[in-house]
Amino acid sequence: MTSTTTPAPLLPNFVEGRWQTGTGPGLPLFDPVLGTELARVSSAGLNLPAAFAFAREQGGRALRALSYRERAALLSAMVNVLQANKDAYYAIATANSGTVTRDSAVDIDGGIFTLSTYARMGERLGEARCLLDGERIRLGKDPLFQSQHILTPTPGVALFINAFNFPSWGLWEKAAPALLSGVPVIIKPATATAWLTQRMVQDVVDAGVLPPGALSVVCGSSAGLMDCLQPFDVVSFTGSADTARIIRSHPAVAEHSVRCNIEADSLNSALLDPAAAEGSEAFNLLVSEVVREMTVKSGQKCTAIRRIFVPRALFDATAQAIAAKLAKVTVGNPRNEAVRMGSLVSREQADNVRAGLAQLKAEATVLFDGSAIPLVDADPKVAACVAPTLLGCTEPARADVLHRVEVFGPVATLMACDDEAQALELIARGEGSLVCSVYSADPAFIARASLALAPMHGRVHAISPDVASLHTGHGNVMPQSLHGGPGRAGGGEELGGLRALGFYHRRSAVQASTAALDDLAASGHAFQP
Ligand code: NAP
Repeated sequence: MTSTTTPAPLLPNFVEGRWQTGTGPGLPLFDPVLGTELARVSSAGLNLPAAFAFAREQGGRALRALSYRERAALLSAMVNVLQANKDAYYAIATANSGTVTRDSAVDIDGGIFTLSTYARMGERLGEARCLLDGERIRLGKDPLFQSQHILTPTPGVALFINAFNFPSWGLWEKAAPALLSGVPVIIKPATATAWLTQRMVQDVVDAGVLPPGALSVVCGSSAGLMDCLQPFDVVSFTGSADTARIIRSHPAVAEHSVRCNIEADSLNSALLDPAAAEGSEAFNLLVSEVVREMTVKSGQKCTAIRRIFVPRALFDATAQAIAAKLAKVTVGNPRNEAVRMGSLVSREQADNVRAGLAQLKAEATVLFDGSAIPLVDADPKVAACVAPTLLGCTEPARADVLHRVEVFGPVATLMACDDEAQALELIARGEGSLVCSVYSADPAFIARASLALAPMHGRVHAISPDVASLHTGHGNVMPQSLHGGPGRAGGGEELGGLRALGFYHRRSAVQASTAALDDLAASGHAFQP
């Protein structure tokens, strides 16, 4: 990446209720298409313990003084602020993430939509201060003494350490349930794309819609952040499995039982009904969805389809149909309207994708390689553009790397299966993923496959001809549905409607007289996710 001679300005951090610029030269953020330096970030010199104490004490106290309905109103006010500034966010995303407008929308509008969904859900919780979890339970013969489980907001701070691919959605899908719960947020965006996160926080802070300490942003190095965590704090991490290991084994998590949510790598699958015929609706729906998943945000989506399982007899036909659509995908500068797929987030990511591809190729053949098609309006020596590649494997049972290595770019592998049982067994080799999509016109197959796939996925997305124009997309994360996955995917759980509030609340049993529990119930709302 080339840089201008004069370093770009440092983006200020917002901690302790004021804007503070870090010290030193900072880390540069680049335009991944033009190679120009856009801004710099530095967290050096910040008093992080004071920042956490301010958020915990001032932000937490102010938020917990409000009811769920009042906090929902804060989310609505934030939505208004963000909507009013959307043009600036799109400009930043084009420059810093290299995404075409349609892909930027997944991040920007997706984030604002999630925030507004939680505002609506929170409104329904009314003036309550806690959530009542289940019915009262008699503890003895006399019904006068009973147990009521309640959920109360944790009196700590929520630290979010986010990945580079969703600087907007990644913040708001977490901040919405946290703030609605009454828990202040400190966001540490990934350095490569920190600008959009920083700008959105700046707009919300400057609009004065949140109490001081409710929302802080630290851009730059993560050094020292985890050390500030205390027993009632929570940390939510999204990123690679390697960094996830560091987070999980940090003393704050190991020694203070800091609650930790991890969203990591995932080898998501698409499964075609073994009974589907070439050219059937189910077949065509799979082809379209695979192409969409490979190309939206250049495949830099944690939910993107990485492995495609089809009946052996349809392997060649599927490869040809996907390749024909991929051949029409124009790659290059997102500012050019002829471009359908922009760049990866950085040259470093482009190198990672090429290195990952080389690993996969040891076990797969190349069925489609878009790199021969010239880039539109972009210099291949500068731009972090990587064309889509479809790989194929006719003996996936013998593969290892294909089921283990996530290539975070426009890459997927088509795999031939002999029957339903083998397909399910091969999907399980991903050792836990965020989402699997199933393509079939047969409700019985969908139900059977869903039951088998559910234990290894956070979400099963079934696409049948009757929902062809209604379904929300394999890779789109809807706030109403769970996001997260077991095993390799990190074991985390996010969203799922009001279920998300659970992470930011503590569950306790209150054992008391009926009269005392009546008083308690007056300040609670039944928790019905
Ligand atoms: P990453 O390199 O692991 O970085 C993630 C975040 O961790 C960044 O903010 C990074 O800061 C920070 N970080 C790095 N080292 C750290 C340390 N020692 N202690 C604390 N924080 C540290 O991941 P990435 O490359 O940004 O993201 C790509 C990965 O994220 C992919 O594997 C993808 O599957 C996964 N992902 C998963 C989901 C999901 O919901 N499951 C969503 C999106 C992405 P710096 O940027 O400053 O280094």
